[in-house]
Amino acid sequence: MIKYVYPGSFDPLTKGHVDIIERGAKLADRLIVGILMNATKQPMFTLKERIRIIEAGIGHVPNVDIIPFDGLLVDFLKQQDARTVVRGLRAVSDFEYELQMAQANRNLYPEMETIFLCTNVEYSFISSTVVKDILRHGGDISHLVPMESIHIIEKILGGKENGSGSADGN
Ligand code: ADP
Repeated sequence: MIKYVYPGSFDPLTKGHVDIIERGAKLADRLIVGILMNATKQPMFTLKERIRIIEAGIGHVPNVDIIPFDGLLVDFLKQQDARTVVRGLRAVSDFEYELQMAQANRNLYPEMETIFLCTNVEYSFISSTVVKDILRHGGDISHLVPMESIHIIEKILGGKENGSGSADGN
């Protein structure tokens, strides 16, 4: 069974991520979306919220599992019995960091490979950071995030404004 892992913060999921998930899932029997729990930066959405947003946005892709992880990516790969990582490349600016990560990971786990999927041009300007900036200022994110996820994001942010948002600390 060919298992690929697509790791990231997904804070929150964007249409660019969905594009990589759809395409990555076609290349493997199973695609594991690995959600990094403790990113160094403080996330806007808790782990549980990020999972809900992803579940809503990728419900149409059958062979995907969403699994949170903490610590080293190579340890997560071994734990999942996987050897291949999928990452998206938007621009040359992504490349330097991605190359460094891929080489560092292979140094730790020589059997692993990183596959880069070039972003679809229409999504190349989309990032979670842009989505968060727009959300903070009450702007429209409908061209950046899948419609099914927007409903969940609105509910979450509405709940937070009312002081009833979840607080699982992640
Ligand atoms: P990280 O915190 O690891 O950068 P992200 O959630 O921002 O995680 O991104 C996860 C992966 O998705 C990375 O490989 C990133 O390059 C890719 N990615 C992010 N946005 C897009 C996009 N618009 N199109 C294609 N790939 C993307």
